[in-house]
Amino acid sequence: MTGTADVGANIASVRARVAEAARRAGRSPEEITIVAASKQVPTARIRQAMAHGLTCFGENYVQEAVAKMNELGYAIPPPDGTQPAVAAGGPPAWHLIGSLQRNKVRHVVGRFALIHSVDSLELGREVGRRASALGIVVPVLIEVNLGAEESKSGVSPEEAIPLAEQLAGVPGVSVQGLMGMPPYCPDPERSRPYFATLKSIFDGLDNQFRRFLSMGMTMDFEQAIEEGANIVRVGTGIFGPRQK
Ligand SMILES: *Cc1c(COP(=O)(O)O)cnc(C)c1O
Repeated sequence: MTGTADVGANIASVRARVAEAARRAGRSPEEITIVAASKQVPTARIRQAMAHGLTCFGENYVQEAVAKMNELGYAIPPPDGTQPAVAAGGPPAWHLIGSLQRNKVRHVVGRFALIHSVDSLELGREVGRRASALGIVVPVLIEVNLGAEESKSGVSPEEAIPLAEQLAGVPGVSVQGLMGMPPYCPDPERSRPYFATLKSIFDGLDNQFRRFLSMGMTMDFEQAIEEGANIVRVGTGIFGPRQK
């Protein structure tokens, strides 16, 4: 399902499908956060999504994200690593869902509500260093490369828990869960075992790290929710095809 031109109708449909998947899994739809993946989406269209009540947007490229924040504002992340309160009509919370280079960390800390893509101790340390200098704690997820794909970033499944434990000793960062993406396949049922793997790693984390499980995109968010996701990242299903 790729979204239509009508952002409002797309959002209504994604919300209904999220709620149905949650109910099938015996969970409450309120547990699940929809992050609208807005890379390459113009701000006019993001405003439409905001007008329909979406409050979380996920960006891949730091420069593009900062330009959008300058235009649309951003909910200031609380200093203690919790999520910002977002109100209808107020500035949205931005999530960094694309991979993060170390030289971009200074543009990210203090602006993004959640970084989904920490995949090394060095990167986590740099986030912590910048955060500590501002007197804040930045919430992060560890990105796991589920299909051992060379084209994708992320730690291997075996490295996720050790990295969380190492980062627990780094001031300024707070590991709050995992993010992962199965290898691309047009059949969403093929994503399910990868989601189940990520959920089992998540369940093996110490309680303090087990808050957000970010998995599922337009094609497979229902399978992800059934397997335990509480954040889904939906782009084309909300905005329609991306501009190149
Ligand atoms: C683009 C993107 C998404 C959304 O993809 P869609 O197929 O458009 O829903 C989700 N997660 C990440 C990391 C992305 O880069």
